[in-house]
Amino acid sequence: MTNAPLLRVAGLAVAYGGIRAIKGIDFEIYAGETVTLIGANGAGKTTTLRAITGLVPPAAGSIRFNGHDSTSATSFSLVQQGLAMVPEGRGVFPQLTVSENIAMGAYVRNDKAAIANDVERVFSLFPRLRERSQQSAGTLSGGEQQMLAIGRALMSRPKLLLLDEPSMGLAPVIVQKVFEVIESIAREGVTILLVEQNANLALRASDRAYVLESGLITIAGKSVDLLADPKVRAAYLGE
Ligand code: ATP
Repeated sequence: MTNAPLLRVAGLAVAYGGIRAIKGIDFEIYAGETVTLIGANGAGKTTTLRAITGLVPPAAGSIRFNGHDSTSATSFSLVQQGLAMVPEGRGVFPQLTVSENIAMGAYVRNDKAAIANDVERVFSLFPRLRERSQQSAGTLSGGEQQMLAIGRALMSRPKLLLLDEPSMGLAPVIVQKVFEVIESIAREGVTILLVEQNANLALRASDRAYVLESGLITIAGKSVDLLADPKVRAAYLGE
């Protein structure tokens, strides 16, 4: 690939008080790729996503998104530029209905007709959400809430979709379903950064991957190669 990456993270460091959660990492994502960041609890995966989305300020390094320096951009302007995040724990608005939650995802847009089309696209991607469109989001199952969070994120028409542990707390059959959806979104051309502890599924669903350990990237490569790597298999694939 000769084009500039859609996202380039260079020398990124993040500290919480005296705790250095990210200690200088470099990675990039090209348009059309699905890239996975795997790592154990506390490795710094969520912190990396929070830095990319402007929720925590980097202590060092730079972030470039979509041709612009976004190191100190606000979350709002990043959404406008095409960044969307599905946070760990989903973050749906429990008192609002499914339809209202989906509508919230389009808050940076004002193209009404296209928004209506995109609502239709979300409902065809997730027929279960259409059936439950008037139900309050807080009463949905965990899997349905994950689908809703992804559907809501798609409403901003993201160029890059960040997914933080979408499999968390879901039954295996639902996890399978969530990954099928992620792969179909990727096939539609959305670039995806997937953060996962479920390394097996995440590596199977992605093109490339990075392993994060205690705030540093220790392994990088094609996902198929990582699936076959003895170190990755021993540490992350339960072998
Ligand atoms: P998990 O898979 O458990 O969510 P993670 O890889 O996403 O883990 P982070 O949540 O990024 O890890 O946390 C990285 C480190 O930063 C951890 O040691 C954590 O305790 C610390 N940390 C995270 N958020 C804060 C905070 N707000 N204040 C202080 N320390 C924090």
